[in-house]
Amino acid sequence: MDNLNIPKKVLTSSRSKKTCSYKQPNPTRLKSSIQNQPLKPQSGTKIQRKRPRLRLTLSPPSLRQLAVNLPTDLPIWSRLRKVLLSGKLRSVNPHDIESIDPQRLFGQRTLDIPRLLPDKPFKEALSAQEITHLALEDMLSKGSQKVGTSLTSDYRPRAPEVASKIVSFAASPLDPCDGNTTWHVELPRLAARYNTPAMYESLRQADEILEEQSCAANIFPCGGVADLHHDDGFGSSTLVQGEKLWLMYPPSDANLAILRKAYETRKSRIDDYAIFKCYQKLQDGIVFVQPAGRSIWVTPYCPHAVFTLKSSIMMFGPDWFLQSTVPQTLRFRNVDLALRKSVNRLGGQDEEVEELLRHLEAVLVTDNVDLQRKTLEAWEVFNRDALKKMLEGSVYKADDFKEIWNANTTHWEICPSCDMTQGEVREEESKYRRRKSWFQRHFEDVHWRS
Ligand SMILES: [Zn+2]
Repeated sequence: MDNLNIPKKVLTSSRSKKTCSYKQPNPTRLKSSIQNQPLKPQSGTKIQRKRPRLRLTLSPPSLRQLAVNLPTDLPIWSRLRKVLLSGKLRSVNPHDIESIDPQRLFGQRTLDIPRLLPDKPFKEALSAQEITHLALEDMLSKGSQKVGTSLTSDYRPRAPEVASKIVSFAASPLDPCDGNTTWHVELPRLAARYNTPAMYESLRQADEILEEQSCAANIFPCGGVADLHHDDGFGSSTLVQGEKLWLMYPPSDANLAILRKAYETRKSRIDDYAIFKCYQKLQDGIVFVQPAGRSIWVTPYCPHAVFTLKSSIMMFGPDWFLQSTVPQTLRFRNVDLALRKSVNRLGGQDEEVEELLRHLEAVLVTDNVDLQRKTLEAWEVFNRDALKKMLEGSVYKADDFKEIWNANTTHWEICPSCDMTQGEVREEESKYRRRKSWFQRHFEDVHWRS
C-alpha cells in the first residue's frame, strides 16, 4: 500500500526531527536457496522451461537488527532493546508465521493464528494527510471533552491541549510523545471508508457469531505504548498510518496466569509498563513490525504489547465473539476480571454476566459435542476461580448459571466431559431429583460444586 506510506513531504517537513531515528531494518532477505537463482532470464537467453519450484519465503529481520534499528531518543527504546536482546522472543515474518509451528502455539484453525491480513485498509486509496484530516474533522466535531474520555486518565484534565498535540503528532510521524495517547476514538468518517477484511466474511461461515462491536481508533504519537493486555474477541487492527512493533504471546494457561498477575499488581503510573516486568516469564513470544496500510489479525486471549515506532492511527474493525471462544471466556474469566479491576472500570457487571449467560446458552443448544465438552471443562475452571468474583456487586446469583445449564441440557443423554451415559448412574429416590433430567442430576453431582 504505497499510497499510505508517509509522503516524503511530511517526513521532511520543516519541523525539526531532533530525535526519533527509527530506521526500517532491511526486512526481507531472500533465503540463500533463492538468492542465487536468476529470477529473470537474461535478454537473449532461452527461457528455460523447467525450473525448480521456489517458495518465496521472506526472512524476518533478526532480533539484533530490530534492536539496533530502534530510535534512541526516549528511555522506552532502551528498555525495549533489552527485551529484544533477551533471547526470549522470536522474530517472525507476519505474512507467513508458518515457520514457528503456529498451530501448536496458537490453535489449529487459520482464524486462531495472528498474522498480517492481505486486505487494503480503505475502500478508496487515501493518503496519510487525507486520513489525518478525516480524523481531525471527526475529533473536532465531537469536541475536546469527548476526546478527553479517550485519553489516559493522567491527561484528561488537559484534554483540548493534548488532543491538539496528538493530532499534530499524527501528521508528523517522527515526533516523540511524552506518554499521552488516545484510545477508542470514534472516527465515523474513517469508519465509513473502512474496508472490512475478507477474514470476517469467512468467519461468518466458519462459526456462529455471538456479538459484534463497532469500529474505533487509537491515535498514538511515536513512543506511545499499548502495554501488555489481551482482547477477548477476534478482531483486526489496521494501521492506517505509522509503524508499530508487536510483541505477542500464545494464549496458554501459563501466559494468562502471568498476565492476570500483571493486571492485579498494575500501578497507575503510565510509564510503569507491565511488559517490562513480565517478558522474562512469558513464553513462546513472537515479535514483528506492522507497516502502514496493513491489518493484523488479533486473536482472543493472546497477551500482547505494542510499541509505536512512528506516530500512528490504528483502526479496529468490529470485534467478533464466536461460539468457539466461549470455553476460553469461561476458562480465562478471572483474567478478564483482573483487567477490568486494573483499569477501574466500574459498573457494567450485570451486562457482563448477562452476556456470558447468553453466550453459554448459545453453545449449549447447539449439536456441537466437541464444543460442549470444551465448554463443560472450562466451566469447571470458571466455577472454581471466577464465578463468585464475577457475581460480586451484581444482581445475578450463581443459580442463574445453574438455571441456564438445566434449561438447555434436558435432551443430553451423555456427558460430553465424563463420557458417562444415563445407564451408568444410580437412580435417586427423592421427588426433587426425579423431576430433573439425567444430565441435570449428573451436572449437580459432578460439575456444579458452587
Ligand atoms: Zn460429566
